This record gives sequence, structure tokens and C-alpha cells, in this order.
Amino acid sequence: MTEPVRIGIIGAGMTGLSCARTLKDAGHTPVILDKGRGIGGRLATRRADNVLQFDHGAQYITAKTEEFQKLIESLVSVDAAGAWDMGERTGFVGVPSMNALAKALASELDIRRQVQVNSVTETEGHWSLEIDKDTLVFDRLIITAPAPQTMALLGTDHPISKQIAHVSLLPCWTLMAAFDDEDDALPASHRDPDAPLAWIANEKTKPGRPGRTAFVAQASSDWSEDHLELDKAVAADLMLSELCKTLDLDRGKVVHIDAHRWRYAKVGTPLGQPFLSNASKTLFLGGDWCLDARVEAAFQSGDAIAETLLNEL
Ligand SMILES: Cc1cc2nc3c(=O)[nH]c(=O)nc-3n(C[C@H](O)[C@H](O)[C@H](O)COP(=O)(O)OP(=O)(O)OC[C@H]3O[C@@H](n4cnc5c(N)ncnc54)[C@H](O)[C@@H]3O)c2cc1C
Repeated sequence: MTEPVRIGIIGAGMTGLSCARTLKDAGHTPVILDKGRGIGGRLATRRADNVLQFDHGAQYITAKTEEFQKLIESLVSVDAAGAWDMGERTGFVGVPSMNALAKALASELDIRRQVQVNSVTETEGHWSLEIDKDTLVFDRLIITAPAPQTMALLGTDHPISKQIAHVSLLPCWTLMAAFDDEDDALPASHRDPDAPLAWIANEKTKPGRPGRTAFVAQASSDWSEDHLELDKAVAADLMLSELCKTLDLDRGKVVHIDAHRWRYAKVGTPLGQPFLSNASKTLFLGGDWCLDARVEAAFQSGDAIAETLLNEL
């Protein structure tokens, strides 16, 4: 009897999850490793004070392709996603939180959380992953970390790292703020690409959310870059001032404030193809950074890797 092919995936974001789902549906048993406490990567939700929640990563999803449209429909059919009327347009969000999308995709997958891979090396056709004092070995390895982190894992001198060196990801400082106020007249969202806060989401207008007045506000890429190394509390304070000014909110009614710095938030320069692999097709690199700054691009990358791998196995 032939031994099953050991497939390792670094990253439980949309790329890793979509890849793993396709492989699992074809009868394989991939192992996903993620350094995070939860799953979903940038499909992220922060909870606070038992009654507050903020989708501080991806805001909403939309589909350009039939395949992603089908995925959204399947997530809606199991109540893991719902439509969000943002005022200027309608998109879909996870229900009851953005990372519910990831949780729905993760069902029955072998995901190992809080496992930080420190380096990967190829030995005799296998891939060894160094994790603290442990080593895990796989026959096929799929890395879905943002491009700069993928290069750090492989080493910048690795030939495949050189092929992704031009890819860039832009930072995003994100504010999470809640107010002791029940003003239902506030807009569902506010977009102004030229302002310090390029995007504001009124969390309670999303389906299935707690009824508290809570906002997620994203600084523009320029503002985030200019303030990248600020202390978190200082960045939060500056963004809160901008939020109150923009929506005419009373700063005295703030009951919660926090900030998160995404160093690799949105794709600036993409790779321009769904994934990269080495000549022997034992190593695959994928992520949103291959195509576009969107969850759908991550889905396409992960799915394309899985389809290619299935043709090889
Ligand atoms: C603030 C913000 C707003 C956004 N808004 C939108 C939006 O409205 N709509 C939209 O479509 N997209 C949006 N995006 C982009 C979207 O979130 C991403 O395109 C998508 O989630 C990327 O998925 P991914 O799997 O490629 O990467 P990630 O989600 O980053 O997943 C990579 C995973 O790899 C793990 N990892 C990395 N290195 C290691 C390691 N060494 N060991 C173990 N694990 C590791 C990480 O923990 C992470 O979970 C937004 C992103 C941000 C940050």
C-alpha cells in the first residue's frame, strides 16, 4: 500500500483554508499550521468587555467570479454570511462576525493553532519545518503567509524568494471604538480615500451584531505608513479624534478604544499570477498578494494551488 502524501499548509487565512478544503474534498488530509490564537488571518474579529465586537480586518466580501459567488451562497445558506447594506453598496459579511466565514470553511480540517513556523528547509525532496524545538516533515508544502513573511521563512537567497521580492503589501492602522450612545441615524459606512481615515464601518448595522454603537475605522495607507511605528495608544488617540470629527461624535461618550496595526494589510504590487511553485512542484507559495487586495483573490490563489497539486498527485 502506498503511504499517503503528507501535505502541510502554513496559514489558516482564506488562502490556506480554501486550499485545504479542496484537498480534503478530494480525499487528502492536509495539516494547517497557524501562529494565531484563532483562525482566519485577516478575516479577523476582536471581542471586548463581553458585549462588544469589531471586525478589524477585512470589512466585507464581494464576488467577481462564479466560484466565489457559489462559496458566498453556500456560506449564506448555513447562516455563516449575510448581506450588509453599506449605504453606497451592498456586500457580504460573516455572521455573527467576520471570522465566522473562516470558521465555516474550517469544519473538519486539521488545524493546529498557535504554531509558529520559524523556518523551512528542503531535505531530500521533503520539507522540514522548524517549530520551537520540534521539526515537522511534509512531502508537499504550501506557504500562504504574506510575501515578506514567506521570504523570511525560506530565506531571501532562496531562488523562489527572488521571484516574489517585488511584491508589496501596504500597512493599515485600524481603530476600534465604542460609544455609550444609541444614535441609530449614523451611517452604515463612510469612505474617503483622501482622508486620514479612509474607511469607517458602523458595526451594529451589520447583520447579527450586538446593538452597541461601535466603529471600526481604517487609516489610509499613506497615514498608516507615516505613523507606522507609533505607540498603539497614541495611534488610537489620533484616529479617535479623526473619527469624532468625521461623524460628529461626542468624545466624552467613548466607552472602549483600541487599535491594531496591520503591517501587511493590503496588496500594493501583486505577483500577477495565482501562485508560484518550485520546479519539482513540492513547494507552493500563495496568498492574496498573488492577485489582488481582496478575500476573493486569496480564495482563488488557494483553490488554484489545490487544483494544481491534485493534478500532480
Ligand atoms: C484592515 C484590512 C481591511 C481589509 N478589507 C477588505 C475588504 O473589505 N474586502 C476584502 O475582500 N479584503 C479586505 N482585506 C484583505 C483581506 O483581508 C485579505 O485579502 C485576505 O484575508 C488574505 O487572506 P490570506 O489567507 O491570503 O492571508 P492571511 O489572512 O494574512 O493569512 C495568512 C495566515 O498565515 C499565518 N502565518 C503567517 N506566518 C506564519 C508562520 N511563520 N507560522 C504560522 N502561521 C503563519 C498568519 O497567522 C495568518 O493567519 C482587508 C485587509 C485588512 C488588513
